[in-house]
Amino acid sequence: MSVILSYQWGSATPEFRSDAPNIIFFGILVAAIIYFATRFTRGGPFLRQRFCTACGRGIPFDALICPYCGFRFSS
Ligand SMILES: [Zn+2]
Repeated sequence: MSVILSYQWGSATPEFRSDAPNIIFFGILVAAIIYFATRFTRGGPFLRQRFCTACGRGIPFDALICPYCGFRFSS
C-alpha cells in the first residue's frame, strides 16, 4: 500500500493519489496477462490438442484415432 498511498505533508492523513485507480487497473491487467500466459504455456488446451483432419474437432495431441469420427491417423 505504500506505493498507492502517498503521504502529503501538512495533511493529517495519507491521501489517495489521483492516479491510484490507474495503478490498480494496471496491476490487475498485468496479473491477468501473467495468469493467461502461464495458463496457456503450461500445456494449455491449444498446446495439448490438435485438430482432426477429417472432422476438424479438437482431439488429444497424441491420439492415434479420432474419438469423434474414428479417423485413423497414419503418424
Ligand atoms: Zn475426426
